[in-house]
Amino acid sequence: MKVLVINAGSSSLKYQLYDMRDESVLASGRVERIGMDSSIVTHEPADKPEVRDVSEILDHVTAVKRVIDMLTHPDHGALESMKEIDAVGHRIVHGGEVFKGSVLVTQEVKNEIRRLFDLAPLHNPAHMMGITAVEANMPGVPQVVVFDTAFHQTMPKTSYLYPIPKVLYRRHKIRRYGFHGTSHAYVSDMAAKVLGKPLDTLKMVTCHIGNGASCAAIQDGKTLDTSMGMTPLEGLMMGTRSGDIDPAIVPFVMNKEELSLNEVNSMLNKHSGMLAISGISSDMREVTEAMNDGDENAKLAFDMYTYRLKKYIGAYAAAMNGIDVLIFTAGVGENSVALRETVCQGITFLGIELDLELNAQRSKEARVISTPSSRVKVMVVPTNEELLIARDTYSIVKEAQ
Ligand code: AMP
Repeated sequence: MKVLVINAGSSSLKYQLYDMRDESVLASGRVERIGMDSSIVTHEPADKPEVRDVSEILDHVTAVKRVIDMLTHPDHGALESMKEIDAVGHRIVHGGEVFKGSVLVTQEVKNEIRRLFDLAPLHNPAHMMGITAVEANMPGVPQVVVFDTAFHQTMPKTSYLYPIPKVLYRRHKIRRYGFHGTSHAYVSDMAAKVLGKPLDTLKMVTCHIGNGASCAAIQDGKTLDTSMGMTPLEGLMMGTRSGDIDPAIVPFVMNKEELSLNEVNSMLNKHSGMLAISGISSDMREVTEAMNDGDENAKLAFDMYTYRLKKYIGAYAAAMNGIDVLIFTAGVGENSVALRETVCQGITFLGIELDLELNAQRSKEARVISTPSSRVKVMVVPTNEELLIARDTYSIVKEAQ
């Protein structure tokens, strides 16, 4: 079975084509600047050079058509015909309380995703455009939706309720959902496999540290708690997002600075975090470089970022009454030797002994970077959300056949 994985944003669409016999990637790519002039398609076939095409792509229907043209192109394609695509899997940011796992797309599922637009106004409408664009271009091909929130639906009320009037939960479903669920699910499962231990016997803290960042307390293979909340703004300090702040700051700043709701939202989501504190960049590489060159603001940003992460790891160790495995993943987690070292060296009381040499080694493989005597196994596990989406799509479509 060949599965096309799509991550549709409002002006971009990323894709990856899998052959599920061996889970190999046949081609991947992205369409950027949808709805603008000079849209760009970048297509990377597995065994041929990258191709770039600039044209006008005004909507998602045309974007998916261009993707199919690329995938079936006689020179740089990976398929003879579109008919070889057996199923399409979509990443959907918000599944609310309704979706506790991945599902086949039906009219009712689409209605439900639409009802969730309120909770993810920037993401879910764009994902929906991806689904309808596939319907228009590939009628009859089964589609599966995989939600960022679904893995965290196992959280108990103690974790997911906010201590605010309950009527807000009943009326508006204001609660904590958590995000990056596909990644937390993938890396926790992979770590258990590498360690050769059943997932449901391990207490894990998974740290997905990329531009957006979240960590999760995973017990018995299920999320007990996670740092993002009703939206991806809560929790850790991130590239451009503040993470946890005193909520009273919002009305205070709105009043003092005469900011609108949109402006304060934009301040916290796009102009805060590492970018705001370093005054340099939201990119960990640039901040680390500046810090190493002696920039004090960059050092402060790095120190705050790692300090806040350490606090969450400690909190989750307490929430689970112990920790067996600490996992780092995503852009920063997989690549920043300095971040892992700073965080791990600051929480040795938990039974963490980092092997500095293993930590400094570069590899694309999931691996242990703690010493053999470390009570807690520290691991780097490269995430692969697309593969998990492809796997879910494959198994759900196969079962439905
Ligand atoms: P992601 O959102 O998972 O793509 O991660 C993006 C983040 O990973 C950016 O902040 C990058 O600076 C960071 N990143 C990527 N490579 C490195 C690296 N070698 N060292 C430190 N940070 C990195």
